[in-house]
Amino acid sequence: MIPMEIEVVRIGQRVVRDDRVTTHVALVARAFGSNTIFMTEVNPDIKDTLEKINKTWGGNFLIEFIDNWKSIIKLKKENGFKIVHLSMYGEKIDEIQSELRTEKKLLVVVGAEKVPREIYEFADYNVSIGSQPHSEVSALAILLDRIQQGSQFEKVFSGAKRKIIPTKRGKTVEMKETRD
Ligand code: SAM
Repeated sequence: MIPMEIEVVRIGQRVVRDDRVTTHVALVARAFGSNTIFMTEVNPDIKDTLEKINKTWGGNFLIEFIDNWKSIIKLKKENGFKIVHLSMYGEKIDEIQSELRTEKKLLVVVGAEKVPREIYEFADYNVSIGSQPHSEVSALAILLDRIQQGSQFEKVFSGAKRKIIPTKRGKTVEMKETRD
């Protein structure tokens, strides 16, 4: 894996809370090599879902609920993170991806419905995944893949109860014995 620390924050007000998309953002962050997601206005059940996923499939991905996205961005900046804001108005991913790969710590910001304007100023990089509107789920997945170039899929999720052995047909799953 590329030695880079990647965290994600989801910001923006939602007109209607969409738990399914929120869960998918967190699942993509976990499966594509990030170790933490910060979220606002979240249904607490989503944390339970991700904790169950960690128990079964391993790793220690963290979901943290926050009240104020600005303070987390400020704190991360002080701790050496570069801020990458995903926006269809940003610089093209094709043109910026090699520079992003040289960074050691990234905080990726994705929006929900409405993104506050200030985020464009706070960000070190405003990055577009194409210049058409789509979804924070797809934008996050593509960004994380372009940065890590597939190496995220070699990450070891320690302590897993189940491990998939990729096969041409059917499902092969290794089950680990546990006491609980
Ligand atoms: N219309 C909203 C706005 O401009 O504030 C964006 C809503 S979109 C459903 C939610 C998030 O998906 C965006 O904030 C952005 O992070 C991400 N997104 C959507 N399309 C994108 C694109 N082409 N490139 C990068 N990120 C994108």
